Amino acid sequence: ILNLQGVTKTFGGLTAVKDVSFSVARGEIFGVAGPNGSGKSTLFNCMTGIPFGPTRGEIMFNGKRIDGQRPHAIFRAGLARTFQKDAEFPDLTAWETVALGGHYGAGLRGSMSLDAAEEALDLVQFDTSRRDMKTADLSVYAKKQLMIASALVARPDILMLDEPASGLTRPEITALDELLIKVNEAGVTILIIEHVLGLLLSVSQRLLVLNNGAVLTEGEPQEVIRDPRVVEAYIGGAAA
Ligand code: ATP
Ligand code: MG
Repeated sequence: ILNLQGVTKTFGGLTAVKDVSFSVARGEIFGVAGPNGSGKSTLFNCMTGIPFGPTRGEIMFNGKRIDGQRPHAIFRAGLARTFQKDAEFPDLTAWETVALGGHYGAGLRGSMSLDAAEEALDLVQFDTSRRDMKTADLSVYAKKQLMIASALVARPDILMLDEPASGLTRPEITALDELLIKVNEAGVTILIIEHVLGLLLSVSQRLLVLNNGAVLTEGEPQEVIRDPRVVEAYIGGAAA
């Protein structure tokens, strides 16, 4: 469903993402790990055209090239994402946030955006009694659910999550894992970034590790975490 070939992103003299290639199959939950500053968010940003695509390399999604396309075109093509820092509209209610996302983001008109919002909130099991609460007053976990619902409103083929577990307690992370498995079972391929390795192991079917912007290794999660180079990258860089 998704294929990256030689994706590179430079900022002036700094190469934040170096020659990254990998493929994600439809239906997978694919993890991207790596220490702080290894280029994970930059990779997601250039994949989603924010603010621009890669400096070099090719990204194919559903058989079409998306590198060089604008963010809204990529979103409407079926590749949705969340951000590491929640981009929330504190004065909007939960319901308004998702419905407006459907209207302006996904380009759904009239009742279509309302139906899609309903569906997305149901899929993330958002507490019905909190739908009319202001976003600012929601719990951390409810904000995460809302962030994921806002991405799902476009009924994407792929959902990309940048460190969704940050700020959550252990039980909330377990709840999030179960939620992501449900979303995946509903037919959404998932790409998930996490710098804490352990958090990805329970949900990812495949794991890729970035270090200094380049792919260090990729494979079955349990094997990848035992790779001495991965252990070294985490010890040498920020704490795992
Ligand atoms: P974290 O786990 O802390 O979120 P990360 O793996 O997501 O880290 P990135 O945020 O992608 O890492 O950063 C990779 C490198 O690219 C860092 O050296 C960062 O300073 C640099 N970088 C990211 N965005 C920009 C930018 N817009 N301009 C210049 N340098 C940038
Ligand atoms: Mg990041």
